[in-house]
Amino acid sequence: MESKQSKSSTNRLRGLVPRDKRQLTELHVHLGGSVPIYRLWEMGIARGIRGVAHSYHEFIRMLHRNQETAGNLDQYLEIFDTVELIQAGPEAVQESILIAINGAYRTGGMTRLGPGGEGGDPDPVFSINRLELRFNPMKRTGMLFSRGEPSGLFDVDRIIRAACEAAEESEIAYRGDIQTGLLFCFGRDLSWEVNRTLAEKIQHWKKTHPKIVGIDLAGPESSMALDSESDLEKMAEIYDIAAGDDLGRTVHVGETPHVSVETFVKTIKALKPHRVAHPVTAARGFWDDKDARGLEILAENDICCELCVKSNVLTQAIRSAEEYGRFLKTLDEFGIRYTFSTDSPALQMTTLANELEFLVEHEAINQEQLLKALANAEEATFIR
Ligand SMILES: [Zn+2]
Repeated sequence: MESKQSKSSTNRLRGLVPRDKRQLTELHVHLGGSVPIYRLWEMGIARGIRGVAHSYHEFIRMLHRNQETAGNLDQYLEIFDTVELIQAGPEAVQESILIAINGAYRTGGMTRLGPGGEGGDPDPVFSINRLELRFNPMKRTGMLFSRGEPSGLFDVDRIIRAACEAAEESEIAYRGDIQTGLLFCFGRDLSWEVNRTLAEKIQHWKKTHPKIVGIDLAGPESSMALDSESDLEKMAEIYDIAAGDDLGRTVHVGETPHVSVETFVKTIKALKPHRVAHPVTAARGFWDDKDARGLEILAENDICCELCVKSNVLTQAIRSAEEYGRFLKTLDEFGIRYTFSTDSPALQMTTLANELEFLVEHEAINQEQLLKALANAEEATFIR
């Protein structure tokens, strides 16, 4: 049963978003986190993936990212190996992308979901009509048991092409009601050789596939913080090979204390991103040590922040809704743009509407901030 409290915060959110602003862009969603758990279950069963079939209840408990299963970024990321295995191969990637786009289109504006992530709200607050979806193609090659070795069961070229085709097909199916762009992520937990191979693949496929709109770096900061000059140089080279001047650049950086303000600044200088994901280190450096260098470099370069509210609270990057409000105020003080996204809507059982509702419910955001963030997403998207 929907509580009175949640119903009233949904209505407050509805009141804050004007009718002519109810077609939104969401730009930070991982493919691994956006296939609903019930669909992952069905895919795992259909494909005969080991370790999936003990019980559906157990599967939901294992995959659902909540306070119990995700107390920091490393724990939050633990389950993605299983998801990547279920999504391995061109056919599964294609299927996953279609499901993810369908999910964003159908449920992105809903504030309530069913237990397996099914849409459960007959009256969405808005709709999503532009979606940036990101994933690491190398982690869909079935290389779980050969991590660190540049070999996978499936052909990465086929995976990339299948992904682009899925994005194109969905646009035809939806008659343009939802546009999709794909971002490919490098992995902090993959070898240089694997990341470099991916960069060369992106360089090749982007020439003929306009659905490829950007690149990203993801994975545990504890594996590689990029705190040495030589690591930064290597990653910068990989970014240049893949993106050159024609793809959008974003980077997950500063989500954990593994990245210092110093490293944060050096990463921005080396990788030259247009956007950054979860730059919490920059704010925390300012709060705790009066070190504004992280915030200043974001402001000077007009870098837009991709914020994922519940994910940041789950990983304890930000400790509470109240602290989220402080985070937004700090970004405003420095004139830094930000946007809101779900990160892993299906595994966190959240939606974009739900994320915004959370901020509204806890009075961590005002209408001006909210509408500016929605407009920022339109401006900062890599989809053209
Ligand atoms: Zn992310």
